[in-house]
Amino acid sequence: MLERLDKSQIFDSEKSYARVSLSWKIPWSVMAPLSLLLTATAIRLYEPAIGTEYRLQIFDRYQQLSPRVPTDVPISIVDIDEGSLARIGQWPWPRQQMADLVDELTALGAAAIVFDVLFSEPDRLSPARLAELLPAGATFDETRAKLRDLPDNDQAFASAISNSNVAIGFALTPNPGPRLPELKPRYATKGPAPDPYLLSFGGAITALPVLEASASGYGYLTHTVGTDEVIRRLPLFVRIGETVYPSLAAEALRIAQGASNHATKTTDPASGNTGRAGLINVRIGRLIVPTDPAGQIWIRYRDSVHTQAVPAWQVLSGEAPANQVSGRIVLIGSSAVGVGDFGVNALGDLTSSLAVQVQAIETILAADYLARPDWMAGAEILFCLVLGAILIWVLPRWGMAWCAGLALLAITAVLGGGWIAFDRYRLLLDPMYPVLIVVLVYLSGAFSIYLTTRTRLIRTTWLVEHDVLTGCLSRRTWYDRAITSLEGCAERQRFLVAVFDIDFFKKVNDTYGHVLGDEALKHMVNIVTQALKAGASFGRLGGEEFGLALEVVPDQDESTDPRQTAADVLERVRRKLEESPLPIPGNDNHQEIALTVSIGASFPLPLESLGDALNRADKALYSAKESGRNRVVFG
Ligand code: GH3
Ligand code: MG
Ligand code: MG
Repeated sequence: MLERLDKSQIFDSEKSYARVSLSWKIPWSVMAPLSLLLTATAIRLYEPAIGTEYRLQIFDRYQQLSPRVPTDVPISIVDIDEGSLARIGQWPWPRQQMADLVDELTALGAAAIVFDVLFSEPDRLSPARLAELLPAGATFDETRAKLRDLPDNDQAFASAISNSNVAIGFALTPNPGPRLPELKPRYATKGPAPDPYLLSFGGAITALPVLEASASGYGYLTHTVGTDEVIRRLPLFVRIGETVYPSLAAEALRIAQGASNHATKTTDPASGNTGRAGLINVRIGRLIVPTDPAGQIWIRYRDSVHTQAVPAWQVLSGEAPANQVSGRIVLIGSSAVGVGDFGVNALGDLTSSLAVQVQAIETILAADYLARPDWMAGAEILFCLVLGAILIWVLPRWGMAWCAGLALLAITAVLGGGWIAFDRYRLLLDPMYPVLIVVLVYLSGAFSIYLTTRTRLIRTTWLVEHDVLTGCLSRRTWYDRAITSLEGCAERQRFLVAVFDIDFFKKVNDTYGHVLGDEALKHMVNIVTQALKAGASFGRLGGEEFGLALEVVPDQDESTDPRQTAADVLERVRRKLEESPLPIPGNDNHQEIALTVSIGASFPLPLESLGDALNRADKALYSAKESGRNRVVFG
C-alpha cells in the first residue's frame, strides 16, 4: 500500500508536538481531573437545590435502613381515629366532648394533655348557637330560653382546660393574621438573641381567646405538613415579627415538667472560636436539646407510632388503660383521613401531623438525635479535595488498573464510613459527593492517560514503520507488507517487485553537500509516490536504494500483458523523476539538481521466494547501471 504522506506535515506536526509538550508542563492526565475536581468543588460550594435535595434523600435512606428503635418514653396518643368518628359522630365534635376527654385524662393522671388540633372557630354546636337555629315565633321561645341558659360548650372546654395541664396549638401563616397568639412561656437566652437565626413567619391563625387564655401551653402546629414535602426537621422555635414562639412539641415538654420558661443557647462567630452562628441548644426543663443553628431538630423516625394509640372513644367511655395515661404526655389528634393533616416523613411513609409531633417528642425524650454539625459540609469538601488530589497524584504513577482498585476502595470506605457514622454516631454524612468525585477524577484521569498513551503509540508505530527522513516505509515494514501482498496475490505473474537506485548520488552529495542530498532523497520519494497509484508499497531499503512491490492491474486501454503494464508504470515513474529536477532552495539563479533513477524489476516465478525475486531485480538493476543508467531493466 502506498503511503501518501506529506512529509512537511509530519515534520511540522513533530515540531508542534514538541512545542505543546514544552509549554504544557502539566499533562492532560492531571489537568483534566484537576479541573473537574475544582469545578465540582465550586458547584458543591454554590450548592444547587438539586444537590441539597439529593443529600436529604440519602439521609432519609439511612433512616429507612435503620429506623429508631422504640424505647419506653412517657408519651401516649389519643387518636380521634376512624373508629371514634364512627361511634361518636363526624368531626368536629362538640367541645363538650373535648371537655369530657380532658376531664377523663386528667382523672387518669396525665402529666400533660396536648391537642394537635386547631380550635380557631367557636363551637357551632353550643346550645346558644343552636337556639339561634330554631324557627322564629313564640312556639320555640321557651326552648330558646332554656338553651340559652345552658353552659356554652367552649366555656365548658375552657374550664376543663384550665383545671388541667393542657397545651393547645395555633397555625403559622405566611401573612399577618388579625392578631398574634398569646405568648405563654418566658425565654431565657444565653449568648446573643436567637431571633435572627430562627425561621420567620408572617402571622398565625390563633385559637379561640377563651381557650388560649385557659391553656398552660400554646405552641404552633406542624407547619411543614403537605403532600409533596418530606418532613425531616422540626423547628423548636420560630419567629413571628419580633416575637419568638415555641412549637407545640416544645410546649408539651415544658408543661409536662411544670417549667415556666425555655432557654436558648446561641453563639456568634465573634463570641467563640467555633466559627458558627446561631443556636447551639435549647433547654426545656431538665432537657437539653441540641439543635442546628436555626433551632431545628432532625426527627428520628421509628416505624408507625399509631399502633400504640388509644382510640378517643375508649377514653370517653372510660375504658382507656390507666397505665397508658398516668404520668405521661398525652397527645390528642387524628390519624383519620380528612381530619388530620397528612404529609410524608423521612421513612417515606404517609404520616399525620399528630404522628410527626409524637415522633419529634419521642426523639427528644429518647435523646436519639441525628446531627449534621455545621462543620460537616466543609469537612466533606476538604475530604473530597484531598481524596481527589491523591487520586490525581497516584494515577499517572500507579496506572489505571491499580488506581481502579484504589478508587473502588475509596468508594467502599466512603460508603461504609457514611453508614458507620450514622449507625454508631448518628451523624448525617453525605457519601454521594465524595463517590461522585472519585468516579469523576478517576474516569477523567484514566481517559486522559488512555488518550496520551494512544497518541504515543500511534507516533511510535509510525516511527517504527516508516523511514524518518523520507516518510516512505522502512525496510522491515516494506518487506513484511510485500510478503503479505505476495501471499494474498491471486496471480503471481502480476506481482511486480522493483529496486530503485539513484544515479550518481555520490556526486549530488559531493557537489551540494549532505543536507541537500537529504532534500534530494525526500524529493525523489515525493515524486515517485505521487507517480505511483494506490496499492503500491514503496520503502527505503537503505541509502538511496528503494523497493517497490505492486500488484499490476492493467488499465482498460493498456496492454493486458502484466509485464508490459509494469514496464509502462515503471517507465512513467522514471520519466516523471527525470522531468522533475529539485530546485535548489534559496538559489537566485533558479539552479536545479537533476535526478535520475535506475530500476531493476522482476516478477516472482512460481514457488520463488520474495528474496530470490528481489535478487533478480537487483541483478537487473546492475544491468541498468551497466547499460547507461536512467532506465528500467527486467530480470
Ligand atoms: P550509482 O549511479 O552507481 O548508483 O552511483 P552512486 O553515486 O549513486 O553510487 P552508490 O549508489 O553506491 O552511492 C550511494 C551514496 O548515497 C553513498 C552515500 O553517500 C549516499 N547516501 C546514502 N544514504 C544517504 C543519505 O541518507 N543521505 C545522503 N545525503 N546521502 C546518502
Ligand atoms: Mg546505491
Ligand atoms: Mg546510486
